[in-house]
Amino acid sequence: MRVTGAERGTTPSGDRYSLLRIEMAQRYRHAVGSADPFYRGLENGVLRATECPDCGSTWFPPRRFCDADLSETTWYDLPGTGRIMAATRVHVPPPFGGIDVPYILASIRLDGVDGGITHRVAASDIPERGTVVAATFSDRQPAHPLLRMAFAVKEEIA
Ligand SMILES: [Zn+2]
Repeated sequence: MRVTGAERGTTPSGDRYSLLRIEMAQRYRHAVGSADPFYRGLENGVLRATECPDCGSTWFPPRRFCDADLSETTWYDLPGTGRIMAATRVHVPPPFGGIDVPYILASIRLDGVDGGITHRVAASDIPERGTVVAATFSDRQPAHPLLRMAFAVKEEIA
């Protein structure tokens, strides 16, 4: 971490403030292991979940074992659509970078699985609860495979 600059100013209400510009570099090493089918799905533009072959429970994020009967789960592809449960506008870049601010972050219940994801929605306005979204994937190679994905509004709430 290093400080690359500083500035001082006065807010419209007359309060003085100081801002420090700080750069941080982070290195990650992910042990992919049993989640490998999930990451291969992202490379191919598909969200993957797991299902218990015995009781039919489903998970996203995927789990390797069923918590009810300890059966090993199987992988399947999701349609990539879902509904917004809650959303907000974020004005601070995430610590891992790769996203311009401000951006929309939403809790999304995914179709075809018991579960969901909190992820970026490519929209300028905050979507209403219940808005239908669909996963989209870019071809760029970001620092983390999940950054290739963003949700797009597919169907607005009337
Ligand atoms: Zn089960």
